[in-house]
Amino acid sequence: MSEQVETRLEAGAELQDESARQDCEWCGSSFGDFATESEVDGMCYDCYRDKFEFDCCRCQESEHVDHQHIFVVVFDEDEAGVPGGIYEVVRHPYFTQGLIGGGWLHEWAVRKIRGPVDFQEPGGYPVGHLCRKCTKALKLRQSAQGRKLRADIAKKKARVPQ
Ligand SMILES: [Zn+2]
Ligand SMILES: [Zn+2]
Repeated sequence: MSEQVETRLEAGAELQDESARQDCEWCGSSFGDFATESEVDGMCYDCYRDKFEFDCCRCQESEHVDHQHIFVVVFDEDEAGVPGGIYEVVRHPYFTQGLIGGGWLHEWAVRKIRGPVDFQEPGGYPVGHLCRKCTKALKLRQSAQGRKLRADIAKKKARVPQ
């Protein structure tokens, strides 16, 4: 390792120490004491999870929200309003949140691609979402319409000023 690289590594370590004494800009938790800083500067991992992650309904691993609304798994057909199974989201909005608790899927906004699943959602939610790994494991493929919807959403996001 060259001296230059080593110096840079040391400088990086110092920077980390400094940020460990700051607070999360979103919830105020102190880094180091109660919170860990996430990959977003100044945001603790709990806040990051709230804003940018969801739990996969099949493997319970965290996944980024960008991948959340591609496929929907319906566990409880009475609550969701459509038969149990896996659906691809092809239009937006595809879900209406009810006034009390639950919500229901819009039949015209989703495309059924598989019947009832053989796994359970541990939280008891009527619908769930899949991480990329499980999407692959289940061999789910997006239709052209679904891919177009994702592209449109990505474009809109890019236009939102930060
Ligand atoms: Zn926080
Ligand atoms: Zn998963």
